[in-house]
Amino acid sequence: MTGLPVGGRGLVAAPAQPAMISEAETQRLVAAAQRARAAAYAPYSGFRVGAALLCEDDAGADAIVVGCNVENASYPAGICAERAAVAAAVTRGFRRFRAIAIATEAASATSPCGICRQVLAEFAPELIVVSAPKDGDTVHWSLATLLPFAFLPDSLPRD
Ligand SMILES: [Zn+2]
Repeated sequence: MTGLPVGGRGLVAAPAQPAMISEAETQRLVAAAQRARAAAYAPYSGFRVGAALLCEDDAGADAIVVGCNVENASYPAGICAERAAVAAAVTRGFRRFRAIAIATEAASATSPCGICRQVLAEFAPELIVVSAPKDGDTVHWSLATLLPFAFLPDSLPRD
């Protein structure tokens, strides 16, 4: 038993080949996320986060777009670094994402919150998620692992 629910016949797709990014790309992405973290506005939680999205344009060229968390006195109005990065990337015309790095000052790797997982899955269900804590080991996940059975655009009925 794996503990995972098994769908009906034909509902469970074979796992896709895991996407990869190079060690150099990982380092470049983490460095960008760490720089973005410095801009975080987190006066309430004190939990400063930077995110860096590795984007791909229509010609296949890479670009990095960053975001930081921006909190608010009306707490729910705040936005996480990951979603800030997605909004900035989409604003710049990017919709294909290969990886995201998240930099925090936590002692160990933290994963994106549920809302951010959903927003990232909209564009890249197989996204590579790299989490870099302040001092601990950097951890890699596939977004498909963090958000299995995601609700995706093709989950909506269309005419
Ligand atoms: Zn989040």
